[in-house]
Amino acid sequence: MAGEPSAATMAPRLGEYPKLLSIRAPVKLGHRKSRIGLPLFREARYLCPMAEIIPVNYRDDILPRYRDTPVGLLLEYHNLGRAIGSASAPQLLIGMCMDSRKALRIPNDFAFVLRTAGANMRDNEFRISYAIAVGGVRSIVLIAHTDCGMAQLEPRREQFIDGMVKNAGWDRDRAARHFADSAPKFGIRDEVGFVLGEADRLRNIYPKIFVAPLLYRVEDDLLYQLEAS
Ligand SMILES: [Zn+2]
Repeated sequence: MAGEPSAATMAPRLGEYPKLLSIRAPVKLGHRKSRIGLPLFREARYLCPMAEIIPVNYRDDILPRYRDTPVGLLLEYHNLGRAIGSASAPQLLIGMCMDSRKALRIPNDFAFVLRTAGANMRDNEFRISYAIAVGGVRSIVLIAHTDCGMAQLEPRREQFIDGMVKNAGWDRDRAARHFADSAPKFGIRDEVGFVLGEADRLRNIYPKIFVAPLLYRVEDDLLYQLEAS
């Protein structure tokens, strides 16, 4: 059961395989091919390639370093339709964005899940430490996602201020100050680059913990592996 794609809906068929990221300006990356043999595309803003984006449609697609680990299990549950049993204790801490379009298919009690804007784990160190020290997890998965609002903060400044005035009852000056103070802290330049850096930051803080950055494509609701380049 484990490892076999259980339903046609869980993995796209070859002929209709989606482009790897939402394409505003597709850039074909030379002769590189994805694991299923299709040309690899990335958005123009990934022109300075930071990572290879590797799909998981079959168990063999899981990178060797993730196989037989809680990270590999997460990929099997979410992408490959592995039967959802019950976990006896949390094995993972998952850090992911609070974006409402994402839901993970995992068993109860499989993972601690910390959701923040942009999967930015800053100021969450005590919560992470608790999951490690008391919760007993030895692995962290950080999940970036496509089309993240935190990567498009600046163009939304006016919308943010208007929304705080209209929806929260703030005056414009206070809302503008709130944006100016917070946007540099929470804004990210791009989703993949940010999560790779955040993974390195956590590895430095927690040297015995295994940290894996992944990408969630909101276009197909699947997880992808990232190989830093
Ligand atoms: Zn997001």
